[in-house]
Amino acid sequence: MIKRVAGVAVTLALSAAPAFAQTIYAIDRADILVGAKFDFKVELPGVVDQARLKVTLNGADYATAFGQSGTFTEREAGKDQSALLLRDVSLARPGQVAVEVSDGTQSRKVTWTVYDTGARKARNVILFIGDGMSPSHRVAARILSKGIAEGKSRGKLAIDDMPHMALVATAGSDSIITDSANAASAYATGHKAAVNALGVYADRTPDPLDDPRVETIASLAKRRAGLAVGIVTNTEVEDATPAAMVAHTRRRAAYDAIVAQYFDAKPDVLMGGGSANFLPQSTSGSKRKDDIDYLARFRDAGYAVATTAGELATLAAKADTCQLLGLFAAGNMDGALDRKFLKGGGVRKFPEQPDLTEQVQAALAVLSKHESGFFLMVESGLIDKYALLLDMERAVYDAIMLDNAVRLAKDWAKARNDDTLILVVADHNHPNSLVGTINDDMAATPNVPLRERVGVYEKAGFPNYPAPDAEGYPSRVDVSRRLAIFSASLPDHYETFRPKLDDPNEPTVKGDQPDTFKANDKYKDVPGVVLRFGNLPAMIGASVHSGEDVILTATGPGSERVHGSMDNTEVFRVMVEALGLGAGK
Ligand SMILES: [Zn+2]
Repeated sequence: MIKRVAGVAVTLALSAAPAFAQTIYAIDRADILVGAKFDFKVELPGVVDQARLKVTLNGADYATAFGQSGTFTEREAGKDQSALLLRDVSLARPGQVAVEVSDGTQSRKVTWTVYDTGARKARNVILFIGDGMSPSHRVAARILSKGIAEGKSRGKLAIDDMPHMALVATAGSDSIITDSANAASAYATGHKAAVNALGVYADRTPDPLDDPRVETIASLAKRRAGLAVGIVTNTEVEDATPAAMVAHTRRRAAYDAIVAQYFDAKPDVLMGGGSANFLPQSTSGSKRKDDIDYLARFRDAGYAVATTAGELATLAAKADTCQLLGLFAAGNMDGALDRKFLKGGGVRKFPEQPDLTEQVQAALAVLSKHESGFFLMVESGLIDKYALLLDMERAVYDAIMLDNAVRLAKDWAKARNDDTLILVVADHNHPNSLVGTINDDMAATPNVPLRERVGVYEKAGFPNYPAPDAEGYPSRVDVSRRLAIFSASLPDHYETFRPKLDDPNEPTVKGDQPDTFKANDKYKDVPGVVLRFGNLPAMIGASVHSGEDVILTATGPGSERVHGSMDNTEVFRVMVEALGLGAGK
């Protein structure tokens, strides 16, 4: 017992840096691609005499090593704290780099690993992200879209049918749990980041746009190899996962700034929801805080602009469409279950939204016109939103939709001699588990709480969804024996044990105390309902992300590097290796 306590104490001492130490960005043990740009920052805990500050890289003065001297701020953000900042530095040679900082009394040392790539192996890279897609969503998608008999699946998902697979660790620089911002940022930049941060190390100053930046794969692909860039999602394009491909901000909610950064970055294809932050504030439905019309700006810059599935298909088929902006809803788009079957959510307002497969088809048509190849990120982003809302059916239908989009891309690549690296990965997990089935026939007695109808072990049996349609979707989810996918992280809510057939689930509403949530009374009279007391703080109105590893599958040139246990920053490395974006390109 005493030994165990001592062990804990030692672990804490090893993992907690002394409070007075300087902070150095990029952080200790960062892996940095040769030639990739980043901002170098040293945050000193007190006011430091610049003459006494010594910063070296492998023993050489930093200004010589980086080829530029930095900006020294004696009192940063009006506080007794000094800082040194250099923008847009890069390192030309691979190897270990020891960075040492001394102010005469205190010192700190971090080590970076600088790596190069070999020659380019892939013409294109397509990164599919199932936002929050967990093993339970995957297995449920397989059961619903392939069917299962005597324990054997009747077919393989496209996302499973890949030669290479790895488990990917997802922790961020500040926490074991990531949000979609720093999760996608790790894939896009190869650097760890903090929750809410995109393409930056979150520094100590309050300005959300001044943080030390790290270059994204979209920028590298354009700058170093002239590749086209595509970003496709069914969330708002300003949302964290798509934004991480180009944006640099400590605050993912800075939508107006993110739209401006999209315009500066000029991805050749940009598609999703989120038109509200492209429209000037004078336009009804706008969420901008200024009068800039980004739709007009993109049009003036040569972009074809689509707002419906029909317009998208027409524009993508035109020979002269080389830049395409598609904005199909004011906020997030709607998922497959609502668009194709239930017509809930935003479908009444935006009835002509394309499916993710149609978006990918259009993106491939436009991007393949670019001679030098492309990098494309495709996100099925509502899996996460629905999992947060404890709406498991909608999450699973969007996992099926992701699978359809991946199959389309695989077929497309196959017809072109497999010149494309295709990766499929989640950004973080959800604590969702498939525990059995909910079986309405199990307890015929009226008024038996529905929890008594949760079939586990042999009583789970197999669900009785109708046979899937050509796209792999059963036409109904309200069957008498349906999958029971439960979350381990819960706000107070009413568990109805039933799919929500009108609109996506809304487990909570604002609570009586400020910044709290309570169970949504909308569901309290559903027969068999159970009031479920949450296990999360009252300020959390939904389920949350979880920190387990996520599954990465891959096919195509460069995919052989996907195996075993990987860190999320290594996904970036797999992509830049395939595209040969290092010095040896
Ligand atoms: Zn996410």
